[in-house]
Amino acid sequence: MVAVDRLYYSLKDYLKHKYGRRVQKITVALPFTCPNIDGTKAKGGCTYCFSGTRPAHLEPQAPLRKQIEEGIKRAKERYGKNLLFFVYYQSYSNTYGDREYLKSIYDTALELEEVVGIDVGTRPDCAPEWVLDLLESYTLKGLEVWIEYGLQSANFNTLRFINRAHGISDFVDAVLRTKRRNLKVCAHIILGLPHEGKEDMLETGKLIASLPVDGVKIHPLHIIKNTKMAEQYARGEFEVLSLNEYAERAADIIEIMPPHMVIHRLTGEVEQERLIAPYYCTYARKQEVIKAIEGELSRRGSYQGCRTAFNR
Ligand code: SF4
Repeated sequence: MVAVDRLYYSLKDYLKHKYGRRVQKITVALPFTCPNIDGTKAKGGCTYCFSGTRPAHLEPQAPLRKQIEEGIKRAKERYGKNLLFFVYYQSYSNTYGDREYLKSIYDTALELEEVVGIDVGTRPDCAPEWVLDLLESYTLKGLEVWIEYGLQSANFNTLRFINRAHGISDFVDAVLRTKRRNLKVCAHIILGLPHEGKEDMLETGKLIASLPVDGVKIHPLHIIKNTKMAEQYARGEFEVLSLNEYAERAADIIEIMPPHMVIHRLTGEVEQERLIAPYYCTYARKQEVIKAIEGELSRRGSYQGCRTAFNR
């Protein structure tokens, strides 16, 4: 829960409280694809997607165990030895494969003693029962398992415009089925999507707040080179949020999130050379964005859960 002296309940606070020390995420990339790219659901992918949102420094062909070991080594050099780890399967749809392959990649996390959890990013239409069975089996082996579903917006017209190729109902269905199990759900949302106003973004936040979701990642829309959205943006079809606007909209969402909801992320970033706009979505400016949101909450005298979305 959000502490009285904190503005929101961060992932760092949640993990520290649960494990008694710093827990670091090791992000890995694997040669997955996505049903929105390979033609199963659609072709071309989400209009903002570039390489399944993979960080440029990660090489999906590198052996998984090596990627994890190198991530652990880098984290220890930076934060000291007293760490635990989550393996984060991030790019593309990390449940979109056959059972044997999925089992082999999740099993790799179990091989390392300091790994206490896995975090699996995927689409809400890529969570059949057998995948949830498999993921739940790791909780019986002592791992904490989070599954991250991209919703992005609760406005179906927006989902269609950005070519998500799934509906809001897919998200609700996936969340409800996942929460029948001992699994944790994190929802991804994007603020500032084309043609959305404050009310659209609030509605997305309200949908998350109404469901048994455990965590949320909030991202500003950012335009990456060589995407369909970059072409639309160049034609002037829509604008991106200024830093102030983004801080205001993110604060609106935090205010209506229940106090137990873990805020996994408050921004999104990409390498400077791949970014078109807005200027603040880079690794170098990440803290500036977080400070802007915290400043907005402080200015309002508000905090996570101070406004309930519903009549509870
Ligand atoms: S679902 Fe994810 S990986 Fe697939 S096209 Fe959209 S952003 Fe890219």
